[in-house]
Amino acid sequence: MKNADWSARDLAVLWHPCTQMKDHEQLPPVPIRRGQGVWLEDFDGNRYLDAISSWWVNLFGHGHPHINAALKDQLENLEHVLLAGFTHAPAIELAERLIRLAPAGFSRCFYADNGSSAVEVALKMSFHYWRNAGKSAKTRFVTLTNSYHGETLGALAVGDVPLYKQTYEPLLMKPLTVTSPDCYYREPGESWADHSRRKFADMASALTEHAGSVCAVIVEPLVQCAGGMRMYDPVYLSLLREACDRHGVHLIADEIAVGFGRTGTLFACEKAGIRPDFLCLSKGLTGGYLPLACVLTTAEVYAAFYDDYEKLRAFLHSHSYTGNALACRAALATLDLFERDDTLANNRSLAQVMAQAARGFEDHPHVAEVRQTGMILAIELVRDKATREPFAWRERRGFRAYRHALKRGVLLRPLGDVVYFMPPYVIAPDEIRFLADVAGEAIDMATKD
Ligand code: PMP
Repeated sequence: MKNADWSARDLAVLWHPCTQMKDHEQLPPVPIRRGQGVWLEDFDGNRYLDAISSWWVNLFGHGHPHINAALKDQLENLEHVLLAGFTHAPAIELAERLIRLAPAGFSRCFYADNGSSAVEVALKMSFHYWRNAGKSAKTRFVTLTNSYHGETLGALAVGDVPLYKQTYEPLLMKPLTVTSPDCYYREPGESWADHSRRKFADMASALTEHAGSVCAVIVEPLVQCAGGMRMYDPVYLSLLREACDRHGVHLIADEIAVGFGRTGTLFACEKAGIRPDFLCLSKGLTGGYLPLACVLTTAEVYAAFYDDYEKLRAFLHSHSYTGNALACRAALATLDLFERDDTLANNRSLAQVMAQAARGFEDHPHVAEVRQTGMILAIELVRDKATREPFAWRERRGFRAYRHALKRGVLLRPLGDVVYFMPPYVIAPDEIRFLADVAGEAIDMATKD
């Protein structure tokens, strides 16, 4: 069977995520036959460099021998068992390792099976903690403009990207929304740190005014990924931690996208030297192999739920695949690779290669900004470089770039008009340069006329 056969069968029965299906009349979905390292191969023998880690999940490439071997071994013993009343070695070992690796002070790991569910868990746990603590007036959450936390209704409610949220607004709880420290909007000559510090004033006044009714502030540390890879300085997180403590409000760090080395450190919060009350992890947790998520929290939070059954204080949230054994085993193998290969040190030099390869884009007449945090690099396309006037959204410039890059063997998937690189950590310097060359062509094609 060739690409065309699979695409036709697909389009007869599937409904794809994040897709206007009518677009497939022009550009059918690409059927992938196998993956190896940073490369995906289709049924016609074309290869695509996976420059976005298959939606930011893949860390060490497709088909990694160490993760494959761990999964084969796990399959021989236990594929899955419910995690209520039962347990298994991979779930226990993974919780132990995550608590050891995360910022000091976590003592509990609650599993879920995808990122949005982890966000739901953190929101519910925070609300329920305050209720168990006798503070039932705390019912609201504070979020940042342009944030994204997933697409189940609770997670969608605390996000702020209109493309995903607007339609469902009547169904959603109402958070308090505070201006993001997004450094794209800094004044000329202003540093990221100064801008982020200045923007904290909005958060400070929201907390001063509303702390009595607020359960938690939820943020994506350092990079608002789905919001167009918008970035800010760690000082914002330090100020936020301090203010949350002062006002008796939880801090939820959604590191679903930025965790596991994307920003340079294993967890983005490390850059600010802070520990949130809830740390949400998913995506790279299993190296991109299987769906799994978890929320790390503290002894203090845990203690507020620990009581005699009749007190009805338990956290009864559950998903069928909570702590799936195969997924936990893939996660353990992924953590092995961080230790074995000294990944974070290697990423520092890869990040420099990315910076160098993208340097030329700064002078492009339709590029407003090239920004980077660790292994995430983004190129913001605009109609007018001087005023930063964006392209009209109907022109779908990013989509044009996507189509061109695919033809040249690169899977880029711009967010609106933001082209970005977030590759697996096994990418070679030459592959980064190839990726940047193709991105350059794609940007030229997408921005002309
Ligand atoms: N939070 C953040 C920061 C994310 O980037 C995402 C996914 N893009 C999610 C939550 C939701 O994760 P999932 O898609 O696994 O539900």
